[in-house]
Amino acid sequence: MLRISRKAESFTESVIREMNRLAVAAGAVSLAQGFPDFACPPELKAAAAEAVAADHNQYAITFGAKPLRDAIAAKTAHFHPGWTVDPDAQISVVNGATEGMIAAMLGLLDPGDEVIVFEPFYENYGPDAILTGAIPRYVTLHEPDWRIDPEELRAAVTPRTRAIVVNSPHNPTGKVFTREELDLVADLCREHDLIAFTDDIYQHLVYEGEHIPLATLPGMAERTVSIDSMSKTYSVTGWRVGWVIASPELTVGVRRVHDFLTVGAAAPLQHAAVAGLTMADAYYDALLAGYRERRDVLLPTLEAAGFRVHRPAGAYYAMTDIRDLTDEDDVAFARRLIADPGVATVPGSSFFSRPELGRTKLRFAFPKRLETLRAAADRLASLAPAARV
Ligand code: PLP
Repeated sequence: MLRISRKAESFTESVIREMNRLAVAAGAVSLAQGFPDFACPPELKAAAAEAVAADHNQYAITFGAKPLRDAIAAKTAHFHPGWTVDPDAQISVVNGATEGMIAAMLGLLDPGDEVIVFEPFYENYGPDAILTGAIPRYVTLHEPDWRIDPEELRAAVTPRTRAIVVNSPHNPTGKVFTREELDLVADLCREHDLIAFTDDIYQHLVYEGEHIPLATLPGMAERTVSIDSMSKTYSVTGWRVGWVIASPELTVGVRRVHDFLTVGAAAPLQHAAVAGLTMADAYYDALLAGYRERRDVLLPTLEAAGFRVHRPAGAYYAMTDIRDLTDEDDVAFARRLIADPGVATVPGSSFFSRPELGRTKLRFAFPKRLETLRAAADRLASLAPAARV
């Protein structure tokens, strides 16, 4: 009988994308999937058009066009002085952080290896591990501040543990990991000879606290695989240009897999990406200020509507608790909200290996124009206890 593979069978379609589809079909305001509904910087549009006109239309070097790798190394040194990265031996350009993570796991892990993943999680890490043949081991972050319990983390390490995934600022909670927590992770990595896969895609969106790349902690550069992307920092999620920074030894594994997975990211967009990476500091300041404003518009409206809100310190998501609003579970409530009052979110259970941990939660994404956020707020106001009597 014809059938899909056991690996493909073992996970379901992304719930986030499903919610987005339902939202489109229902004409709902979508605060589900995390992509901007506003334009990317005009410099990037112009650079993309120029790159095509300048005939950058054939395969780039598989691990990335040289000008882009140079720009990534320079930007890394600019924002994180002391973290020196060799663009020829340590940077691989990939098709977004999504490819970066799976190419890194496929290139560096073996079937049966265990990978520690914090939950709630960005939903790709589990399937990435499974496609690699590795086994995800989940460690729960504890509310209200999504704290790591050091004992639980230590207990998750077994003789088969090979790696740990760290995503800070964190999707879906907006948590920014503290230096103490990163020190704890780094201690474990050094003690047990683990690789750290860090997803740094929200590194420029930190409202409170600071982004500390794990690779900059003592002894961590050689064992950290740092993944980042154009998607969020430059509002070009559709470009599919990202990169992986790792030691020369680990980079060999990442590049071998990347070569056979995709050959390379879109060549003209790699050239155009340089225009983003070389932007002045003022760009990042304005980006952050814009997101802070969006956060500060959305959060009070969610609270007024009756959600309990976890205030995000970074990234562009707000995790909420729906206990005061409904007895329905997260999926039923999310579906109902799409229909009436017409706002799409993501059910909390999709961020947990044990769905029951997310049954009272919904995630709102706010990379949206203020008018979109206000339209969502107007609709959500009908949920407020006062509006219901
Ligand atoms: N990692 C995290 C934590 C994300 O939230 C997302 C997108 O939402 C991605 C990776 C996807 O990144 P990319 O578009 O670079 O593949």
